[in-house]
Amino acid sequence: MKIHQLFEQKNPVLSFEIFPPKRNGDVQSVYKTIDELAKLSPDYMSVTYGAAGSERGEETVKIASRIKNDYKIEALAHLTCVGATKHELDQLLADYANHQIENILALRGDYDALSNRGIGDFKYASDLISYIKAKNAFGIGAACYPEGHIEARSLTADLFQLKHKVTQGVDFLVTQLFFDNEKYYAFLNEMRSLDINVPITVGIMPVLNRKQIERMVELSGANLPEKFKKILVKYEHHPEALEDAGIAYACEQMVDLLSNGVQGLHLYVMNKPEVAKRLVNSLGHILHT
Ligand code: FAD
Repeated sequence: MKIHQLFEQKNPVLSFEIFPPKRNGDVQSVYKTIDELAKLSPDYMSVTYGAAGSERGEETVKIASRIKNDYKIEALAHLTCVGATKHELDQLLADYANHQIENILALRGDYDALSNRGIGDFKYASDLISYIKAKNAFGIGAACYPEGHIEARSLTADLFQLKHKVTQGVDFLVTQLFFDNEKYYAFLNEMRSLDINVPITVGIMPVLNRKQIERMVELSGANLPEKFKKILVKYEHHPEALEDAGIAYACEQMVDLLSNGVQGLHLYVMNKPEVAKRLVNSLGHILHT
C-alpha cells in the first residue's frame, strides 16, 4: 500500500524511523529492534539510507524488505541522490520493487557523504522525485523543515523550494525534528498558504542525553526553547532523570500536536524499542481518539 493512502484511512498515522547497523555492524540487533517495534502496531516503519552506492543501500533494502514481507508492515525506504548516478539509482529502485517495497523517502542527502564521488546526476531532492515519479511505481515521501533547512537563505526561500519539490510528485511530507510546536504551526500555515496540501507527518525525537541533543541541534539548526534548555542543565549529570524528562517533554509535545490535529507522528526512536514503548504507552488512549 502507498503510505499517503494511510493518511486517508487513519488519524494519526504512527511510524517509527530506524537505521541500518554501522559498517560491519550487527544486523541481527536491528532485526530484534523491528521485532519489538512491530508489537507496538505502527502503521509503517522507515529505514534510513547512508551514502549512495555504498553497501548501506543494500542494508536499507534488506531491512525494509523484512519489515514489509515478514511483518506485513508498510516500509518506507529512504533514498538519497547525492553522489549517485542514474544507473546506480535505477538498480536500487529495481531492488526495492523486487522486494515489494512501494514507498520511498526521496532525499538529496548531505554533501559530506560525497567523499570523492562528485555531485552525481541529481542536484536536489526535487530532481530525484521527478525521476522516481516518472517510473510510476512508488509512493513518494520527502523531507520538510519547520525552521528552514540549515543551508537555506531563509525560511521563505526554503518554502519556495519545498513548493517546487512537492509539485514534482511528492505524496506526503515528513518533518525534521523540532522542539517548539509553535514553530511547526507557523510553518504549517505558511505551507497551506502556498497551497502545499499533501499530508504531513511530524518528526519527534525524544532527548535521551545531552551529547545527542547537541549533535542534533548542530545538524538541524533546531531551536531549543528555554524550558527545554532548563531540563538539559538541571539533569545533565543524571542520565536516568534526563531520559525521563526527555520522554516526558516529547509526550507533552505530542499531546499538543495531536490536539491540534496533526495527521501523523513519526518517532525517531534511534533503534531503541524501549523508548518507543514508553512514548506510545504514555500516549495511551490519546493515540486512538
Ligand atoms: P532538498 O529538498 O534538495 O533541499 C536541500 C537544500 O537545497 C535546501 O536548503 C533547499 O532550500 C535547497 N534547494 C532545494 N531545491 C533547490 C533548487 N532547485 N534551487 C536552489 N536551492 C534548492 N540523510 C541521509 O543521508 N539519509 C537519510 O536516510 C536521511 N533521512 C532523513 C529523513 C528526514 C525525515 C529528514 C528531515 C532528513 C533526512 N536526511 C537523511 C537528511 C537530508 O538528507 C538532509 O537534510 C539534506 O541536507 C537535505 O535533503 P533534502 O531531501 O531535504 O534536500
